[in-house]
Amino acid sequence: MLKLKNINTFYGKVHALKNVSLHLAKGEIVTLIGANGAGKTTILNTISAVTPAASGEILFADANIAGMPPDRVVRNGICQVPEGRQVFKPLSVEDNLELGAYLRYRNREGRKEIGKDLDDIYVLFPRLHERRKQAAGTLSGGEQQMLAIGRALMGRPQLLLLDEPSMGLAPLVVQEIFRVIATLRQEKGTTILLVEQNAKAALKMADRGYVLETGKVILEGIASELLENKEVQRAYLGKD
Ligand code: ATP
Repeated sequence: MLKLKNINTFYGKVHALKNVSLHLAKGEIVTLIGANGAGKTTILNTISAVTPAASGEILFADANIAGMPPDRVVRNGICQVPEGRQVFKPLSVEDNLELGAYLRYRNREGRKEIGKDLDDIYVLFPRLHERRKQAAGTLSGGEQQMLAIGRALMGRPQLLLLDEPSMGLAPLVVQEIFRVIATLRQEKGTTILLVEQNAKAALKMADRGYVLETGKVILEGIASELLENKEVQRAYLGKD
């Protein structure tokens, strides 16, 4: 479904991604692992065209989307949930969710389905339903993360880019977020590219993973094998 071929991305003179190649099959959860500054967020931002690649190809459903502006990438079915959630704080939960579907208001068919999708999101996140009239800025960190994911889903993405969804959240809330990610794949078949500091939890849920070091892919493999890999354990998985 998605293929990056020899991608190079720069911030000024900083060469943040060096010949990165990776792929995701439809319905897969793939995780990116690496230390701070390894280039994980840059990969997501390069796919979504927030930080365009200087060279290389990004094939999505066989079309080269490298060089497309971000809004066209979204229209093609790729949606990013950025690090730090970035919900619209003064707006209600429900307004935030509806904004996620703004591209679909253009036609009658799309509008009809928005109400149904809203119901689906509320089934996935009952907490958001309880708080649907509340201003998003007054939600807890975990609830804001749920809202950010829910808002992205309202765009019916084929590929979801998730940046550090567990950042700063309590362990129980992290479990809840991970449960939803697993449900999404199971029930909707959403393909997910996941960036996580919590590499162990991410690998337990993912099908495959890529390990990045200073802008390069240094290792890739089946998630369960990466979990057993001594180098990965030593560098990224910690104890417990
Ligand atoms: P983290 O886990 O800390 O978020 P990361 O693996 O996501 O790290 P990136 O944010 O992708 O790493 O950063 C990759 C490299 O690019 C780093 O060296 C970082 O300092 C640099 N970088 C990121 N954003 C910018 C920017 N806006 N301007 C200049 N350099 C940047």
